[in-house]
Amino acid sequence: MERFFAETLGEKRFRAHQIMKWIHHRYVTDFNDMTDLGKALRAKLEAHAEVRVPQVQFEKPSTDGTHKWLLAMDGKNAIETVFIPDKGRGTLCVSSQVGCALNCQFCSTATQGFNRNLSTAEIIGQVWVAARHLGNIPHKQRKLTNVVMMGMGEPLMNFDNVVRAMSIMRDDLGYGLANKRVTLSTAGVVPMIDKLGEVSDVSLAVSLHAPTDALRTELVPLNKKYPIAQLMESCVRYAERKRGASVTFEYTLMKDVNDQPQHARDLVRLMRDFDNRLQMKDAAKVNLIPFNPFPGTRFARPDDAAIRRFQKLLNESGRIAPVRRTRGDDIDAACGQLKGQVADRTRRQAEHLKRLDAQGGSGADAAA
Ligand code: SAH
Repeated sequence: MERFFAETLGEKRFRAHQIMKWIHHRYVTDFNDMTDLGKALRAKLEAHAEVRVPQVQFEKPSTDGTHKWLLAMDGKNAIETVFIPDKGRGTLCVSSQVGCALNCQFCSTATQGFNRNLSTAEIIGQVWVAARHLGNIPHKQRKLTNVVMMGMGEPLMNFDNVVRAMSIMRDDLGYGLANKRVTLSTAGVVPMIDKLGEVSDVSLAVSLHAPTDALRTELVPLNKKYPIAQLMESCVRYAERKRGASVTFEYTLMKDVNDQPQHARDLVRLMRDFDNRLQMKDAAKVNLIPFNPFPGTRFARPDDAAIRRFQKLLNESGRIAPVRRTRGDDIDAACGQLKGQVADRTRRQAEHLKRLDAQGGSGADAAA
């Protein structure tokens, strides 16, 4: 932005700071309302630039305070963003792509196939929409305290735009969030985890979901390319770059698939290896996510006893493993339920709809 002012407009660099504050702290998008800019500069901006925010196509509050937005990104595509308030904090779950290319078997976003990457503006625009809705004022009236890149898409497959958007989330002229309060979640794109370590200090979350390669490849096909040992090595390197940092491993519990005692014991071993490599107790954090169902899925949520049994085995090994409370499932806003809208129907989506039809499920609903 400084460069734009200096080089394109021939103006002072500090003008960029004023504009950033108008947009991200005061949610003003009309140059004419930016009262500390002279008339001539406002006219120049009018001629050279535009502040375009995502169009809210639909929004829905959940009974538990969760809030979901369906945002139109262009004429054809829409994505979802979810705000999750909790004691003392407000977390926004942000999307990085329209659809997703990875085809994780238990994720609703996968069924729609991949359409395109979101731009930096489209990613930070999600934060803007939520922050404005909440009346968030960075550093003063903090409503939005955390961002997790856990919406639709694989953030590391849209690396440059995601990194740029995350830097606006953390900048004082943007949303002023601390490094550790911005979390990038990945299905395990190993070379990109290393690249992220070179340019960023955000918290890292890794979608593990299985402790052995055979099972993980079934659930997360990307594992074939980057098996668990390589993935764990890259996580060690990421944590080593910033001493004292932990990595969170997400484990979605699916009934009779990865919820058995042997899975828990294998997971314990994997997490212990990680701690040992870093010579740090509790370097590996585990988050347990009970599977959230969606139409046409072949997976199911384990019953509460199975979830508790799995958690207990981790606890007995000395590891805290919180079970993530399902939030916003009455509005289909829970993990793995984000669907959005993609205009170009991909082959994968067509197949999913065919499967639903064969089951007598509501294909029309999934296509809506
Ligand atoms: N592509 C990134 C970002 C998505 S984050 C990643 O894989 O990490 C969304 C998180 O929810 C991931 O951990 C994902 O594996 C998990 N998830 C996906 N589908 C789910 C479902 N149906 N129920 C519970 N968790 C799910």
